[in-house]
Amino acid sequence: MAKRVNTMTVLRRERLTPHMIRLWLGGAGFDDFLPVVGESGLPDTDMYVKIVFAPEGVTYPQPLDMEAIKATLPPEQQPVLRTYTVRHHRPDDREIAIDFVVHGEEGIAGPWADRVEPGETVTFLGPGSGYRPDPEAPWHLMVSDEAGLPALAAGLEALPDDAIAKVFIEVAGESDELPLTAPAGAEITWVHRGAPAGDADDAVAGDNAPVIDAVRAASWLPGEPQVFIHGEAQAVMKNLRRYVRKERGVGARRAGSISGYWRRGRTEEGFRQWKADLRTAEAATS
Ligand SMILES: Cc1cc2nc3c(=O)[nH]c(=O)nc-3n(C[C@H](O)[C@H](O)[C@H](O)COP(=O)(O)OP(=O)(O)OC[C@H]3O[C@@H](n4cnc5c(N)ncnc54)[C@H](O)[C@@H]3O)c2cc1C
Repeated sequence: MAKRVNTMTVLRRERLTPHMIRLWLGGAGFDDFLPVVGESGLPDTDMYVKIVFAPEGVTYPQPLDMEAIKATLPPEQQPVLRTYTVRHHRPDDREIAIDFVVHGEEGIAGPWADRVEPGETVTFLGPGSGYRPDPEAPWHLMVSDEAGLPALAAGLEALPDDAIAKVFIEVAGESDELPLTAPAGAEITWVHRGAPAGDADDAVAGDNAPVIDAVRAASWLPGEPQVFIHGEAQAVMKNLRRYVRKERGVGARRAGSISGYWRRGRTEEGFRQWKADLRTAEAATS
């Protein structure tokens, strides 16, 4: 991902659901934000940034120079990075929105979003990206949990009016459902696990995440779908990816946007290690 550094101000916050906070960011730094435009000439819909958090008591010289920090500061003073989707980019209003899952007191970004006040400064790297719905796809399979919902919702909004989509979104319960903009041909199924993702026990998480059965039970339409599946890594990478690629035979081009966004019981650093181990294991067996 591009290492471009951007600093914006928290303009306002909105509580979207019991477990989701939206922060609007803008200010002078808005002009430095460069959306990623894909081959279609339009911005990708899953743009993400890496928010930079300094350890307690550490401040970095401005403007932030990540290479210099890496080269000169000891490990305990290195920044912590957390990855988030740009849910809205509104050039006319010179602001972007990021939707944060709030998942209790554990972690850095979730608790920060839950308590941050307007006026605070946010520094992030990016954006990077990789997906925009293909208007030529015969149909779309779109799946997420709460963490993947901002990118899924942005993708749904970008579907052409005549698009056909099957959409499965797993959330804690009815009060976590969000209004979505979608074409008439999008069949949206909300799947309730009955608990916030971080608190759910093994019977309804990971290999047993209810969205897996919901997707497996769905009828398959003619033609190869374009697939977008983003969410908890065990459900996505070990279950749904296998289903789509191996059992349904969707090729790499159409199934290019299948991504674990977080991992139960692991911080983002621990999750990155999990992904690296998975890649190594898969390379050894392929
Ligand atoms: C490309 C990309 C885009 C993403 N976009 C978004 C987004 O728009 N909104 C969003 O909320 N997340 C998004 N995520 C996921 C987010 O980066 C992770 O959830 C991240 O771990 C949160 O950091 P944290 O500091 O809150 O918790 P961490 O310090 O990473 O983890 C602390 C604990 O919280 C748990 N935890 C982390 N995330 C969740 C969660 N979502 N639900 C329940 N428990 C959790 C961990 O398993 C761990 O036990 C995205 C991830 C990627 C890779």
